[in-house]
Amino acid sequence: MDIPVQSNDDHIETLRSNVDGIDGDILNLLAERRRLSLEIAIEKQKNRRPFRDEGRENSLLMERAEAAKAHNLDPALVIRLWEQILQDSVRLQHEQLQGELNGVEGRNVTVALQGIEGSYSQLAAEQFFVDKPVTRTYLGCVRFADAVEAVEQGRADMAVLPVENTTSGGIAEVYDLLLHSRLSVVGEVKFRVKHCLLGTSDATLEGLKTVYGHPQAVTQCSEFVTALQGVDVIYFGDTAMSGRRIQEIGDHTVAAIASEEAARMFGLQVLKREIGNRSENYTRFLVVARDSISVDPQIPSKTSMVMSVGNDPGALMDVLGEFRDEQIALVKLESRPTVDNPWEEMFYVDFDGNSADARVQRALNGVRRKAKFIRLLGSYPSQDLRPQRRSLDEKGTKRTPEPSITVVDRGPIPSPNGYMLAGRGHKSANTVIDISGIKLGGGDMVVIAGPCAVESYEQVMEAAASVKASGATLLRGGCFKPRTSPYSFQGLGYEGLEILAEAGRVHDMPIVTEVPAPEEVERMSELADVLQIGARNMQNFTLLSEVGLSSRPVMLKRGLSASLDELLQAAEYILAAGNQQVFLCERGIRTFETSTRNTLDIAAVPVLRNRTHLPVIVDPSHAAGERRLVAPLALAAQAVGADGIMVEVHPNPDEALSDGPQSLTLDDFSQLMISMRM
Ligand code: PEP
Ligand code: MN
Repeated sequence: MDIPVQSNDDHIETLRSNVDGIDGDILNLLAERRRLSLEIAIEKQKNRRPFRDEGRENSLLMERAEAAKAHNLDPALVIRLWEQILQDSVRLQHEQLQGELNGVEGRNVTVALQGIEGSYSQLAAEQFFVDKPVTRTYLGCVRFADAVEAVEQGRADMAVLPVENTTSGGIAEVYDLLLHSRLSVVGEVKFRVKHCLLGTSDATLEGLKTVYGHPQAVTQCSEFVTALQGVDVIYFGDTAMSGRRIQEIGDHTVAAIASEEAARMFGLQVLKREIGNRSENYTRFLVVARDSISVDPQIPSKTSMVMSVGNDPGALMDVLGEFRDEQIALVKLESRPTVDNPWEEMFYVDFDGNSADARVQRALNGVRRKAKFIRLLGSYPSQDLRPQRRSLDEKGTKRTPEPSITVVDRGPIPSPNGYMLAGRGHKSANTVIDISGIKLGGGDMVVIAGPCAVESYEQVMEAAASVKASGATLLRGGCFKPRTSPYSFQGLGYEGLEILAEAGRVHDMPIVTEVPAPEEVERMSELADVLQIGARNMQNFTLLSEVGLSSRPVMLKRGLSASLDELLQAAEYILAAGNQQVFLCERGIRTFETSTRNTLDIAAVPVLRNRTHLPVIVDPSHAAGERRLVAPLALAAQAVGADGIMVEVHPNPDEALSDGPQSLTLDDFSQLMISMRM
């Protein structure tokens, strides 16, 4: 009888198909495990149970390692496998919780990116949305700035922007955009970039003459690219687009650096895989949206912020000490020059923690006390899900657990009075503002002088030369003049600002000028050293928040009928938006007394001194309204300990286009400085 004998090949085939079957089972089981894990998440959410149970994760790993031994499997391998499975579960549970918290479920979101479909930005965005219960539409943009604008203008809900790469470093343009936009960071993606060289189906490595590539991609593949003999590199704005270009021209001598996905998308051949200098090449992307999100305290989160600390020795160390004191780990610190002030650095900081956490709030309050500028970009779920290895070593043996220092503590610190950042309760030491080397609030009296309005080049130059010679340190001049009557001189606008800035440069005096509206803040900040908020704008809250985003010091004038409490609340708007360099100016208020233009509330100086750490100056000119009253009021300001005065001075007050009657002549000013012994 013939017994059918299986050939060797057939036998291998059978074994392989059994293995395939087992793999299928593993996949089904993984999917089933995930489904159960999601159910657990929903139950935990209902009962407000903690999400990450380190104890359970550890004992689960221990049990799996023990079971592995019984099956003759390597416990270290099993631990590594289950760590991945647990991380996936944790991520899934976090997504469930975050989706619930921020109500995104079932929505369609429009995502703006730089580049077209198949770009790394889009691949990163897809990775970000895995497990998020939303559908998405992509809006490809030419520049990063266009993607940001699309979100600002509401044409997109989010933008996904690359910020740094492990091989080529930070992407400066995106950092600058983030600082100047009002968008919030709502998420991050760490995306593994695998560059490939793509060509037409008939292309060969040897036959290449030209390679297209995005400058960042070329840098990350520089070793491979330099080794290609006799090949020209042409920079291209976008990786996927360079792939599409190859498809369009169909030339076998031209190739592009792009992803494998782009090869599939444009029907190209992968000439070589993994051409990056480093096989572990990651790009970190930030996801930004108009509104910030809340991150559940159960989820490990990260916060991004920007700050400037000034150039005093040890200033940065001092500020970073605030994080150390609260046991908060910094995960990134990068500096960029400040756009308006090239000698000063802005520091981009990422730290572990959530801005709703009391520890983080304490640290941030400490930073606000010391920094010149701070802007929180947002808190978001961290992608660095570190494996829970605390009590297990590779062999699965138990180690003693280290004590945990994480205390989740919710709720903001209560504010003592409406102005928590401006108050002495927040900061007992006086704030000293450094205006290009001039210290305001540091004990010396600072004198700001100049005409009410910038009228002409000659007028400002003459005034500047003279007040400087008499001892003034800052130059004032209104370029935009908010006037009671629409028919009065309204100022020379930006032309005036150019003149004032030129006079400031020539006479080495920082300039102070009034910014009339939120939309002018960014442009005026380029030239003005101090942004003045006029009395009539003291409660223009949009303007206050906008100057709060500037890195220039702000002089806030007291409103015509504002209480000191309201003045401090107005300062609070600026501080809360990020700018910590604010000083206050008492300039007289409306009372029943009509003998002076306004009534100088000289008591405001000592009262404010008690309540706030911010410097306080006095403007005797607008209080007096009359030249001969200016000097006595200036002396009074000095006597009560003001940090400075601001005086209107005109070379020819009789011909002044505004506030002539209260302007001192150049001689009057020189006399005043002598009587003040300045
Ligand atoms: C000024 O200082 O130019 C000015 C307009 O003053 P105030 O806003 O105090 O009236
Ligand atoms: Mn004036």
